[in-house]
Amino acid sequence: MVEPFAPGILSKEALDARLDALLKEYEIVAPVNRRGQAHFSKIIEISEIEWGYSSSVIPPSKVIYQAEQLLMRFVNQDGSYLVVEQHPPSRQRILLGVHPCDIHGILVLERTLVGRWQDSWYAGERKRSLIIGLNCQNPGPDCFCSSFGTGPFYAPWMGQGPPEGCDLFMTELMSGYLIETFTEAGRRLLEGSELTKPTDSDLVEKDERHKKTLDQFTKHLNTDGLDALLNRHLEHPVWERVGEDRCLSCTNCTMVCPTCYCYDIVDRAQLDLKTILRWRRWDSCQDQHFAEVHFGNFRPSRKARLRQFVCHKLSYWMEQYGCYGCVGCGRCIHWCPTGIDLTEIAAEIRREEIRL
Ligand code: SF4
Ligand code: SF4
Repeated sequence: MVEPFAPGILSKEALDARLDALLKEYEIVAPVNRRGQAHFSKIIEISEIEWGYSSSVIPPSKVIYQAEQLLMRFVNQDGSYLVVEQHPPSRQRILLGVHPCDIHGILVLERTLVGRWQDSWYAGERKRSLIIGLNCQNPGPDCFCSSFGTGPFYAPWMGQGPPEGCDLFMTELMSGYLIETFTEAGRRLLEGSELTKPTDSDLVEKDERHKKTLDQFTKHLNTDGLDALLNRHLEHPVWERVGEDRCLSCTNCTMVCPTCYCYDIVDRAQLDLKTILRWRRWDSCQDQHFAEVHFGNFRPSRKARLRQFVCHKLSYWMEQYGCYGCVGCGRCIHWCPTGIDLTEIAAEIRREEIRL
């Protein structure tokens, strides 16, 4: 682990000039406005970046863990198959402007993908990704990262520290960007840039901006003993009422969640009838076919599937990994067509337990 380097201030002009130079060397993926929504996309010009975005549609963890990834190619050669593994390109990529909740999202996802078991395809994509974080000063109405301590400004969460999560971190201030450097690779990204020492008023301004951003949150979740609370109420009527009356099994919630990792494997024969491509693509516990196994479906109802999603994030994950599986990004709420809100479900269960 590399100790944090001394923080410095980089003017907005100097930052633009540095990013312009980095664009020649790296693929830069940053928040870009497409039809009124922020998307992490490969940029061609610095002017495309939407610095003040609130939340992106798809989280940056899923730039690394892609919706579809080619794993291997089977080629028929004289009746036998040659297996060729396909690995990610080695060109370095910069994920720029990643908010704290999404950095924690990457760290939570990695407890599965590069924990005890190593997914070499994910690990390859991760290895080529440098991360530049950006403290969030514009939370949306569905954000509740402040309830988990995963945002809006960066702080280590549940034993996770910034050196594993990002290389550089930025906070927008009046005088420019306050830059904190966490890794040697991050330090190299700034080579040739003139950073000045932050003044006391810069540091006071950072604290004031943090407090002002915290005051903007309208959604909150009481996380005190939350995992045990949900475990005690697996038969609560809220699962039936919300799951059966409102859930459409559309899978939106899982597609946009930064920590969801379920996938399916599909083989696709090519038109030459000699080549088969093996792809991995995201799957979802909200899809009715997800739990189909040889004897039937072990989660046939929408009630059971919704309960699985919410309880996995807010309860079972704690037992599995020692942290919550939710970082409070609010995407599953925002993109649910019927407005299903896991914070409301948890609050209803807590209210009733207090009443009993
Ligand atoms: S469960 Fe919802 S709020 Fe939590 S991390 Fe996933 S998408 Fe974000
Ligand atoms: S987004 Fe909403 S409706 Fe769609 S599967 Fe998730 S909870 Fe159900």
